Amino acid sequence: MNHLKIGWAGLGNMGAPMVTNLVKAGFNVKVYNRTTAKAAELQEKLGVQVATCPKHLVEDVDIVITMLTDDAALKEVYEGPEGILSVTLPIDMLAIDMSTVSPDTTRQLAALCEAAGIWYMDAPVSGSVKPAEEAQLVIMAGGRAEDFERAKPIFNALGKAAYLLGENGAGNYAKLAINTFLGITLQGLSEAVVFAKNNGVSPEQLLTLINGGPIASVISNTKSRNIINHDFTPAFPLSLLAKDIRLAKGQGMDTPMGNALFTTLQEAVAKGLGAADMIAIYQYLEQEYAV
Ligand code: NAP
Repeated sequence: MNHLKIGWAGLGNMGAPMVTNLVKAGFNVKVYNRTTAKAAELQEKLGVQVATCPKHLVEDVDIVITMLTDDAALKEVYEGPEGILSVTLPIDMLAIDMSTVSPDTTRQLAALCEAAGIWYMDAPVSGSVKPAEEAQLVIMAGGRAEDFERAKPIFNALGKAAYLLGENGAGNYAKLAINTFLGITLQGLSEAVVFAKNNGVSPEQLLTLINGGPIASVISNTKSRNIINHDFTPAFPLSLLAKDIRLAKGQGMDTPMGNALFTTLQEAVAKGLGAADMIAIYQYLEQEYAV
């Protein structure tokens, strides 16, 4: 049993497998989830303690970790009427946010935490549900070196690598940059398949060529089956990628492919594809650019 007691808020697609790995690694974990059924399910499966609100979550923990949808959810969990900041926090508590949110929100919450006598670290992750299940996430952090050291046993239980990149917000900037590259890659792959298909080369034929050649990548391999089978079951929903690119634009991203990606994602969400997997970028482009 690891001596650190962790309070974890957010048991979505990513949070639930991450908590499972912490429990497997011997951490004492207490959980909170807005939809209580998800917390009850994990309590039954793992025997974790359940808190009914964020303020009860932090009562007796050393570290609180959040893995929530977006900036609004994170602010609600910290600043809401029963939020983390509504109570006197345990001395020397460390707060880690692993969601993908804006560096501005991180800096605001870090300042509020510091005023309440605790330390804050942004530590978003690269890798989707499968890497989360297999403890293969890559973690990028912003904050103090001593807090990063303190969090290392946790990061080791959740991922294959963790990097401290700078002050609060640095992890968020890196994550937004990575997802910009991810989205541009998916749009590029999709546009190539649409062009080929419109000219008589099937998606299966083209993707076999791509994945057998020098421009193959983990992402082209992973998403090829989805394109060929028109299977857009969400691993990482398109709406979350759209949120990330909107955040990147809010931080000054204003480059040709980033802007094109932003427009594509906004339009795909408007067409009702937000709940589908991010590779539904292909579905959108195939429909819009069919000849
Ligand atoms: P998710 O499945 O949608 O889960 C989101 C979690 O946030 C749920 O626990 C949800 O509670 C909670 N939540 C949302 N609004 C809330 C509010 N106002 N108050 C309290 N709790 C709230 O999302 P996810 O896929 O786990 O992603 C979590 C974060 O990781 C996101 O920032 C995402 O961008 C990032 N991320 C995701 C992936 C991926 O592949 N999925 C990969 C890397 C990073 P309920 O259960 O009540 O809805």
